[in-house]
Amino acid sequence: MTQGKGIPFVDLIAPHRELHTELMAAAESVLTSAMFIGGPIVEQFEREFAKFCDVDHCVGVSSGTDALRFALMAAGVVKDDIVITVGNTFAATVEAIVQAGARPYFVDIDPLTFNMSVDALRDFLRSECDALTSGQCPVHRGSGRTVRAVMPVHLYGQMCDMDGIMALAEEYNLLVFEDACQAHGSQYFSKRKNVWQRAGSVGRAAGFSFYPGKNLGACGEAGAVTTNDEQIAQRVRMIRDHGQVRKYQHQVEGYNGRLDALQAALLQVKLPHLEGWNSRRRELASEYNRLFSEIENIQTPHEPSWSRAVYHLYVVVCGDKRDELQRYLTDRNIGTGLHYPIPLHIQEAYSHLGSGPGSLPETERLAGKILSLPMYPQLESKQQQSVAEALLQFYAGQTVGSHVR
Ligand SMILES: *Cc1c(COP(=O)(O)O)cnc(C)c1O
Repeated sequence: MTQGKGIPFVDLIAPHRELHTELMAAAESVLTSAMFIGGPIVEQFEREFAKFCDVDHCVGVSSGTDALRFALMAAGVVKDDIVITVGNTFAATVEAIVQAGARPYFVDIDPLTFNMSVDALRDFLRSECDALTSGQCPVHRGSGRTVRAVMPVHLYGQMCDMDGIMALAEEYNLLVFEDACQAHGSQYFSKRKNVWQRAGSVGRAAGFSFYPGKNLGACGEAGAVTTNDEQIAQRVRMIRDHGQVRKYQHQVEGYNGRLDALQAALLQVKLPHLEGWNSRRRELASEYNRLFSEIENIQTPHEPSWSRAVYHLYVVVCGDKRDELQRYLTDRNIGTGLHYPIPLHIQEAYSHLGSGPGSLPETERLAGKILSLPMYPQLESKQQQSVAEALLQFYAGQTVGSHVR
């Protein structure tokens, strides 16, 4: 097998080659407009992304982390409130919670989808929180803190089981904030509402990231809050702009967290292509699934019938020889990633939260076995074939006995 220049894990340049003329024209229009922060291009992009997500409001901000943090603050999450989330996510989820003044509480993940387990969420609320007086949030017995919100993360581009999460949120008076930073365009079939729902449209508010490698990526830092709640949208507009209601009138302590016009202009060019890019990712994912169906040691991603995932990442579970396999692929110039190698609850930065090793068994079990393979719309079928061949060869060269789980 010849590798040529290898197969990168992600290709950030290819979409820019495809859209070169339009992107340059968009950049040019910003350079000559002198409207660099805010302005009509940002507002236009906000309207278009709101429509894409099937929500009333989108507020552009300077990153996905800011989007999540501002959404929490705007919805009234206050100091020492508990926000329930997962350990199997990027650190930004927890940074947003902590920097909004709240306390993250980790629950375990579902062993099939690797997203927040509805059972784990229910167990926590039922067995570790005090029954509520009506209209109030539950109180966590161990800490005496108010449980205010849940932040499910639609990891790898697949939405969480939102019906279960929303039902518990209603029962327990919790706000739901979707971390949709990996899930632009992902869909969930709600049995309760008998409708396909888009990521970012289900909870009270959601945060998106347009970090360059995301399914919709800027050429710098960018993010957005989506919501159907007009008051939250207005408050996020204020918070992202130094807490100003109008120039030099600061109603709350705010941040410098706006979306700039250059990023908005580039994103506006890319947005109409997102649906097509996502379908290509889905196609590649099912082809990977087919190619790996013969490899006993590889567990391919589970997509429930209620999900249409957008495969921000294509993550396989590969038994106990994960690191060897990764080295094998690296030696053959095939890029891979680990998402994420160390769950957040056992990171040094979060050791003070008191849920150390052993507290999230599924999350911890998974972390040592996952491997992310090359996945982007411009990945060629031929390249994908080479990735699969390399995996087949690796396992053909292994002695028997390294099974998944
Ligand atoms: C990328 C990402 C974020 C943060 O987005 P930034 O734009 O990098 O701040 C948050 N959560 C998840 C799950 C992400 O993947």
